[in-house]
Amino acid sequence: MSEQKNIMQECFVCKKDLSQSQNKSFNARTNLPVCEECKGTDAEKKAEKDALDSLAEGFVCGCI
Ligand SMILES: [Zn+2]
Repeated sequence: MSEQKNIMQECFVCKKDLSQSQNKSFNARTNLPVCEECKGTDAEKKAEKDALDSLAEGFVCGCI
């Protein structure tokens, strides 16, 4: 098992560490944390889509 960073402690868009941040928000669709700089940006939308796509792939097929 590989070491896994706590994704709930970092911005899912820019991967900035938010464990010390008071200003993080959560993306409504992914439930992942997002920093103030990324919130509402195109980058957030793209990362949101990527996150949802990867989740969807995991659900559709685990046979690869
Ligand atoms: Zn960010």
